[in-house]
Amino acid sequence: MIKLENISKTYNVGTNYATNVFQNFNLEIKEKEFVSIIGPNGCGKSTLFNIISGNIEIDCGKIFLKDKDITKVKNYKRYKYIGRVHQNPSIGTCLNMTILENLALADNKMKKYDLTWGIDKKRINEYKEMLKSLKLGLENHLYTKVQNLSGGQQQAIALLMATMNPIDILILDEHTAALDPGTAEIIMKLTDKIVKEQKITTLMITHNLKYAINYGNRLLVMKQGKIVLDRKGKEKRDTKYEELIEKFNCF
Ligand code: ADP
Ligand code: MG
Repeated sequence: MIKLENISKTYNVGTNYATNVFQNFNLEIKEKEFVSIIGPNGCGKSTLFNIISGNIEIDCGKIFLKDKDITKVKNYKRYKYIGRVHQNPSIGTCLNMTILENLALADNKMKKYDLTWGIDKKRINEYKEMLKSLKLGLENHLYTKVQNLSGGQQQAIALLMATMNPIDILILDEHTAALDPGTAEIIMKLTDKIVKEQKITTLMITHNLKYAINYGNRLLVMKQGKIVLDRKGKEKRDTKYEELIEKFNCF
């Protein structure tokens, strides 16, 4: 489904503060895999996502999505088939616009003239149904500005916006990290429900080792731009929290 081939990336090449993040990095994600990615700060997790979404250029290597070489495809074109949710909900939503306007904006991204928020009145009931499925009562707040919602509600809207149109891949960059434990749990369960229902190929960066073990069907541990552990299926399910803590301690 998505394949990174011999990727190398150094920030600020040729300067005193050059940072090499990836050297001949390879990764293949199969269709419908739900991959949890853990690893210490600075090991290259967000850089990996920025490479997939086309937000940063790579020095060499190739990126394939469904066997199509997308290495040179610009980020604004990739965002039509790559949904992304960030740690900060304000990146995934427009805070000073209403829920309805935000949903219309996300809906229109598939259209020819995207990034408009012309509201298709026929869609309003469908938006309400989508909001109802979140079970947060947001269907009664269509005209509330997103900035007036709680962090968890904002993140639920960001998640809905990223997945309301068919996408090939969903990338979640610590999307529960800024939430209190209870709210994080709600958003994590909601994520799992959406991913399973829509069978979306998903990559999730998390610092929550329990989420990394309990959710998804593949687990990657990264360290200094390398994958040091890759488990699937039963092997992943059998992974113990203590074992991951130990892995973390020896980083
Ligand atoms: P992680 O998400 O795992 O914490 P990042 O991918 O953000 O790690 O960062 C990997 C390394 O690259 C770090 O050393 C970080 O300081 C550096 N880095 C990340 N983004 C940039 C950038 N835009 N310019 C320069 N260095 C960067
Ligand atoms: Mg990061």
